[in-house]
Amino acid sequence: MNDCIFCKIINGEIPSKKVYETDKVYAFHDINPEAPVHVLIVPKEHIASHNELSSENVDVMKDIHLAANEIARKLGISESGYRLINNCGADAGQTVFHLHYHLAGGTAMGSKIL
Ligand code: C5P
Repeated sequence: MNDCIFCKIINGEIPSKKVYETDKVYAFHDINPEAPVHVLIVPKEHIASHNELSSENVDVMKDIHLAANEIARKLGISESGYRLINNCGADAGQTVFHLHYHLAGGTAMGSKIL
């Protein structure tokens, strides 16, 4: 999508600190980290949000979850633990409308969701 910031990151128009890439998925360090490890995992296909997942495109979720496992191992937080978070829509605080999962860890975050 022309004006999507994450599409621009995926195609290299905007620089990013890449941590993982396959033909389906791209992952990079969040520009404004909220945890010692804060990586964004995104599908290369432009899907605006979790609401736009369908039987046509949901297969990429497998790749996203396997990417999360591999990145957590690579960055040393597999054993200590991490969160995998998706913000969907305004009330959840979604600011970039290209589906993405926050992989956050490297610190104890407690058990509360909010
Ligand atoms: O879930 P939400 O849409 O709020 O998250 C968007 C995330 O994208 C933010 O954590 C923000 O720091 C990150 N971001 C980024 N690089 C950009 C623009 C936004 O890492 N160029």
